[in-house]
Amino acid sequence: MYINVILPLPLDGVFTYSVPPELERQVGVGYRVLVPFGRNKTYVGVICGKWKEERGMRNDLSQNTREPNGLQSNLIPHSSFLFPQKDKIKPILQVLDSSPILLESQLNLWRWISDYYLSPIGEVYKAALPAGLKAEDGYRPKTETYIRLTPKFRSEQALHIALDMLQRAPSQQKAFIDFLDLVLWKEESGEITRDELLNQGHTLVTISALVKRGILETYEQEVGRLNHGGEPHPEHIKPLSLAQQEAFNQIQFAFLQKPVTLLHGVTSSGKTEIYIHLIQQALDKHQQVLYLLPEIALTVQMMDRLQRVFGSRLGIYHSKYSDAERVEIWQKQLSKNPYDVILGARSAVFLPFQRLGLIIVDEEHETSYKQQDPMPRYHARNAAIMLAQITSQGSIPPTSTLHPPRVLLGTATPCAETWHNAQTGKYGLVTLAERYKGIELPEIQIVDIKDLQHQKMMRGPFSPILLLKVREALERGEQAILFQNRRGYAPVIECKQCGWVPRCQHCDVSLTLHRNLNQLTCHYCGYTYQVPTECPACGSRELQTRGYGTEKIEDEVRALFPEARIARMDLDTTRTRQAYERIINDFSAGRTNILIGTQMISKGLDFDKVSIVGILNADTMLNYPDFRAYEHAFMMMSQVSGRAGRKGRRGLVILQTKSPDLAVIRQIVDNDQVAFFRSVMAERREFRYPPFTRLIYVYLKHRSDSLVETAGHELGSRLRQWFGARVLGPDRPAVAKVKSLSIRKLLIKIEPGLNLADVRKYLALAQQQMLQDKRYTSLQIYFDVDPL
Ligand code: ADP
Ligand code: ZN
Ligand code: ZN
Repeated sequence: MYINVILPLPLDGVFTYSVPPELERQVGVGYRVLVPFGRNKTYVGVICGKWKEERGMRNDLSQNTREPNGLQSNLIPHSSFLFPQKDKIKPILQVLDSSPILLESQLNLWRWISDYYLSPIGEVYKAALPAGLKAEDGYRPKTETYIRLTPKFRSEQALHIALDMLQRAPSQQKAFIDFLDLVLWKEESGEITRDELLNQGHTLVTISALVKRGILETYEQEVGRLNHGGEPHPEHIKPLSLAQQEAFNQIQFAFLQKPVTLLHGVTSSGKTEIYIHLIQQALDKHQQVLYLLPEIALTVQMMDRLQRVFGSRLGIYHSKYSDAERVEIWQKQLSKNPYDVILGARSAVFLPFQRLGLIIVDEEHETSYKQQDPMPRYHARNAAIMLAQITSQGSIPPTSTLHPPRVLLGTATPCAETWHNAQTGKYGLVTLAERYKGIELPEIQIVDIKDLQHQKMMRGPFSPILLLKVREALERGEQAILFQNRRGYAPVIECKQCGWVPRCQHCDVSLTLHRNLNQLTCHYCGYTYQVPTECPACGSRELQTRGYGTEKIEDEVRALFPEARIARMDLDTTRTRQAYERIINDFSAGRTNILIGTQMISKGLDFDKVSIVGILNADTMLNYPDFRAYEHAFMMMSQVSGRAGRKGRRGLVILQTKSPDLAVIRQIVDNDQVAFFRSVMAERREFRYPPFTRLIYVYLKHRSDSLVETAGHELGSRLRQWFGARVLGPDRPAVAKVKSLSIRKLLIKIEPGLNLADVRKYLALAQQQMLQDKRYTSLQIYFDVDPL
């Protein structure tokens, strides 16, 4: 017997192994096996096909087997290495499972992703399975280390003594203070894991020192990884308003006709309440539901809301969960007693579902649904739509004779593709135009900051009116959100004398100043540098910062509103799940007054007492050099505006811009999506951009700029042989060097009617031909399909 195995390697295709007779009865599609690879490596592979020798294997194994459901196995075989001669086929070492850990539908989703996004299936495997399932011994710690005060330090007086003791050991003192902070914040449970403290930037050495001093002690405890959310309470489901009920009915109707439906509902219209009704309906039919959100921060908020109703029937799954937790959820989903509802971010599309009935893709417009790096560069919304289609192709167990899973996309600001699909009837469309309880959409006031700068009336990045409104809100006990789409302190520092700007040694970008850490950071490679005290070019000591990142905004806001409690939410402050939860919970509970953040805060977060939102600089978004700049700016600004005024009072948004006369600004102010998309579509149609064509970016990377230049032109002419004028480039992208690799980019526009499978075949062929050339051995070529 032979099997094809997917290995967690960035190589195209699958690998063939033989199965010793005594193991034959133990293997099947979806089982994991331990296999030898190369000279002395072993890997955990997943079986994706098996056959007996009689079944026409001949001496040529390079024929990919067709899978029963008719989906073509992916990718053109191109290396005899992958499909060795029969006598070179090695036997598997071990079968790791007694039942499949991967369902047929999941495997087919992997194949589709690999195929469509031109990504080796090994990369899909790596992204899809939690690490614990990819490792030989399945690393699964059962206990966690906790820390607490030793008994003799459990009084207030003793705490002061402890703090005194640590006077001369600042890092220990800081760790200790952070520990106390965590204790305070946790109130009830009061239990702190050592990891939580480590996550605050402390080291094991520091913590051990505190233990040695007898201040803290550690203890081990078994961790309940899974959510025990208590009894479900369907009675907590809120009755729908008339308009919501109408939308709900229309969705039912659309589900009968179309596999995918868009719920286009303004912010705060109660889309979530409608989802909850739909979920309950699916559960009543014994179906499972997958509820996708683009951002972990949102799952944190949504978790509470769903748990109130669905209790322990709800499971949460995203990348900030520990690997062990993810393994447990995975296994639970394969068991007889799986979660009925999974709330998760992108990677939740990879979970096993035995009787999936409904997929909700909330905030469908969010670009973070698309994985950028590493491969596979897939879009989770589109993968979810595909998952529904694949699931309906016959792999649901015969017990569920219900219709194939339906997909509901929800958003206040659809992306251009979804808008187009809904307008042309490919998707069902249900519109919910009023906010719940008729609360008005916020008023958006444009502030011309160019004018104010001329008049010297700006206070740093703030217009006087914005400061006034924030102050008034604080006085009324309301909250404010300030949105600046740049993290760090200042995007640029510069020599006042000669204009020198520090740049990354490995990337073609200037460095961002992070003042809290007192370092310069490259946002592309993560490399950090010391902040220079003098200019290396001219020796001047006058180095000044230019521009505003969230850190600097935070500093200025603290100076302007010393009495306010301020939090910042960006990539730097949300490295851990705890940090996320803390910022969000503090803000929703009113423990913070002003929240400063990057686009992270634009994503559908739902806070009740926010009466003012400040968009500090609309222009960086509008001027971004990309054909989607306006689309993204429109979404982002409309979404962040939607955070204002959710209960009682009409919210206010101050939109600061240097170009107040742009049509798109007017359209944002009026929330006029029809006018906005009319102009977007006209432009896209004229210049042949999505949704009227499909785009594929082809990237080349190499250490040598001249080599990547030559290779880019050569690949360009190869592709032009087949695709003609559909190929543009090669060009230098805006950031043309990252991590010491020079980059070139080609763009391919594929009009409707062209066979996509053929296109992909030619692309793979071109890639393969290029990489066979000796000059290009260390050249990287990769694709971004449907780039955002
Ligand atoms: P959206 O998801 O469209 O932004 P939400 O579902 O978050 O809107 O609703 C906004 C607010 O209005 C929430 O606080 C929600 O609880 C409340 N709400 C919406 N619909 C109802 C309803 N039918 N009954 C009670 N409260 C509702
Ligand atoms: Zn200088
Ligand atoms: Zn760099």
